[in-house]
Amino acid sequence: MSEVIDGDMAVGDLKTREKSIQEASLSLVEHNAGLAVPLSQHWSFLTQIHGSENIEVKENESVFGLEGDALFTTQERKVLTIQVADCVPVALISDCGAIAVIHAGWKGLLNGVIENVSKVLQDKFPGSQSAVIGPHIGPCCYEYGRKDLDSFIELFGVSVAGVTDFSTDSLNLMAIVQVILEKRGIELVFRDDSCTSCDSKFWSYRASGTQKRQSLLAWIEKN
Ligand SMILES: [Zn+2]
Repeated sequence: MSEVIDGDMAVGDLKTREKSIQEASLSLVEHNAGLAVPLSQHWSFLTQIHGSENIEVKENESVFGLEGDALFTTQERKVLTIQVADCVPVALISDCGAIAVIHAGWKGLLNGVIENVSKVLQDKFPGSQSAVIGPHIGPCCYEYGRKDLDSFIELFGVSVAGVTDFSTDSLNLMAIVQVILEKRGIELVFRDDSCTSCDSKFWSYRASGTQKRQSLLAWIEKN
């Protein structure tokens, strides 16, 4: 997972994308000594639309800006990236050698973005799956209207209701993710609950309206 110090990982518009991806990969290497990030031409990224579509990165291919909210691959050294500034970045690992990255905000969670890619992985590469969750906006900061919150409680249960640090209703995105993972039988092996809104190491759209993004990056090392 990148942080503010690694630079803006937003991939911008189509014209500037290749350059910003290149810069991002160089800055990650610079700030993470010893991290052998594959070169930028092996990075894939999406035009994220809060939907539920997933796209496979196949042999000798990279994905540049197709619309979707999840990427998966079985290919080694192909970097799958998701850009976030509050939404929950999720990585799935199948013990059959496939990985996926998912952009999961409230809309994507409602649209089944996690379930969809998990099912595709299961169909293509049957085996058990585990999940890794990166920093996202916490219930401490994600204030939510009562009426909208109630509809999430109806769908996912009371655990999704939170309270902000200033004592108003909030939505607990991580709790929704947990409900979904449990339903799919996916083991949660790592979670970083740093709140993107209150932790200055991260960008937050809710806190500042920024267009800057941190990125979840995942790739399969050579066996
Ligand atoms: Zn917070």
